[in-house]
Amino acid sequence: MPDQQTAAGENPADGRAATAPPAVQVEGLWKRFGEQLAVSGIDLTLPAGRFIGLVGPNGAGKTTTLSMVTGLLRPDTGRISIAGHDVWADPVAVKSRIGVLPEGLRMFERLSGRELLAYSGRLRGLPGDEVDKRATQLLDVLGLAGAQHKLVVDYSTGMRKKIGLASALLHNPEVLFLDEPFEGVDPVSAQTIRGVLERYTASGATVIFSSHVMELVESLCDWVAVMAQGRIVAQGPLAEVRGEAPTLQHAFLELVGVRDEDTGAALDWLGGGNGTDR
Ligand code: ATP
Repeated sequence: MPDQQTAAGENPADGRAATAPPAVQVEGLWKRFGEQLAVSGIDLTLPAGRFIGLVGPNGAGKTTTLSMVTGLLRPDTGRISIAGHDVWADPVAVKSRIGVLPEGLRMFERLSGRELLAYSGRLRGLPGDEVDKRATQLLDVLGLAGAQHKLVVDYSTGMRKKIGLASALLHNPEVLFLDEPFEGVDPVSAQTIRGVLERYTASGATVIFSSHVMELVESLCDWVAVMAQGRIVAQGPLAEVRGEAPTLQHAFLELVGVRDEDTGAALDWLGGGNGTDR
């Protein structure tokens, strides 16, 4: 937990890894939507105190997995615990320890950014003056101070991500889940978000985020899990998953089984080739 003390000079992440239960432990998780098998019996152990990337192609099952892990979607079967607490048997213990920035991000849009944070803080049971203090700091750091009285409905995509992040961080959770936090975010805002997340994990907390952007995952994460077709095809420290490949992108393409020639042959009509259909 960010508030947790460690001995002077000790890396909080290492200290936590040695003693803390995993941030997330998943066993035998399945989810089917009608005929579509979205998650096919995955086992996953994500250590505490790490910056963790969950990567995979479109439709791999990342959002479905994160939704089940954060208690938003009931699994068909499987066990999930967060920081040692069962997500479905002990939801209050889990929900007080996590922050979530979900995909799609439905928020109370008729509130201003400041009001939204005040509402989230009170919902979390924080005292009003503490909520005010934290909200002011988060709005400042995330560059939203000037827009704090604007309605969220009038926020841009990037501003929505940032106010969603502020709301997810307000109660200082132990584990933060982010579904595509950088999508639709400009480079300046991305840098700001990144700075906030790096500071947060440096204090011993865990960030778990899904992304398609391998360069980003490679530069931010020290631990990755790769999903394809509802299964976990690799998980572990970034360097281990990357293996001998020059970049994570190469390792990823290898793991999910995509080859350059797959697109070449299929689209032989595309471009200035034979001209018959033009
Ligand atoms: P992306 O990167 O494109 O967001 P993802 O890895 O997050 O993809 P999911 O959204 O978890 O993938 O989807 C996994 C599979 O489950 C897909 O085939 C998707 O069509 C299906 N699926 C997800 N949610 C539902 C739903 N509510 N009803 C029916 N099928 C669904």
